Amino acid sequence: MADKKAFVTGVTGQDGAYLSKLLLEKGYRVYGLLQRSTRYAFENLDYLGVTGDVDYVEGNMDDEASLINAIRRVHPDEVYNLAAQSFVGVSWDQARLTTEVNSLGVLNLLNAIKNFTPTTRFYQASTSEMFGNSADEQGIQTENTPFHPRSPYAISKLYAYWITINYKESFGMYCCNGILFNHESPIRGLEFVTRKITDAVVRIKLGMQDRLGLGNLDSCRDWGFAGDYVEAMYLMLQQDDPDNYLVSTGNTHSIADFCSAAFARVGIEDWEKHVFIDPAFKRPAELHRLRGHSERASEKLGWKPRVSFEELVNMMVDADLKRLSPAD
Ligand code: NAP
Repeated sequence: MADKKAFVTGVTGQDGAYLSKLLLEKGYRVYGLLQRSTRYAFENLDYLGVTGDVDYVEGNMDDEASLINAIRRVHPDEVYNLAAQSFVGVSWDQARLTTEVNSLGVLNLLNAIKNFTPTTRFYQASTSEMFGNSADEQGIQTENTPFHPRSPYAISKLYAYWITINYKESFGMYCCNGILFNHESPIRGLEFVTRKITDAVVRIKLGMQDRLGLGNLDSCRDWGFAGDYVEAMYLMLQQDDPDNYLVSTGNTHSIADFCSAAFARVGIEDWEKHVFIDPAFKRPAELHRLRGHSERASEKLGWKPRVSFEELVNMMVDADLKRLSPAD
């Protein structure tokens, strides 16, 4: 097991940071793809204390040659493809960029692996967004639920999902899709609704902000903790055979539930007074309700989420409180 090498794209993102920490703890040498920037975003890796333990390779999902260089240089045992334009809302305004990174970027990476390190194991960060509003009679999604993507983001991810399966079937590569439901943490991007709520709740509590504008309060999501979900990614690449796995908690909560729990954590019970619907945040097409059934991950990987919804909300509010409270 010693000296196993993992190459993580999207290493500076929420999941990239949690996964890097997990793999480093397991003794991996971790290489991260870093896209060229005038200001590198190491905050998430800093938060988890692993920035200096990762080796970085510059490149971009959009640039096949840079991925070939990275794969040839690292010769990884495992590749975790987490890089993406990952914000659903932006995907309507930047549909082409979203497609280039999230669809063609995956094709670039798979080709680099196929041609230079074909025995490398590959994980693709697929998403519950691919289901759209599709579900069974109980309103639950499984690996067999038909896909009906409702955003350019979800459509770009569906291409990536199928090309990953196709490279497994066509070339015998070890390729897995993790169909992950929403997962959050104190380092979730501030543009995502959960973190937007916890950040605003703390600012309201501290008198730094009056109100919080949201696009809708009724959508329901199956929210889990990112630290739990990266363990499922790792487990998918340790099996005898590659497969696709849905990863979720099995519980669903509305955005109103999330607000209520977050405000309650700072002692504000009349939370509705502080929240208003801002049409600017409404999306052209909404997903009403996601709730996943991750039986395959539980049976084959032995994976189960550890952190509950309430623990997750409290963890995020507490972290924002610590970050935003004035120093003594
Ligand atoms: P995130 O925090 O938004 O991180 C995205 C990462 O992708 C960042 O490191 C970003 O780099 C990198 N990136 C973006 N464009 C790139 C490009 N052209 N070339 C190279 N790197 C690029 O996302 P996350 O929440 O960690 O999610 C990880 C993956 O899981 C994503 O693919 C996401 O779509 C998927 N997913 C997430 C969830 C969830 O609930 N979090 C659920 C299902 C699936 P910079 O830091 O330089 O911008």
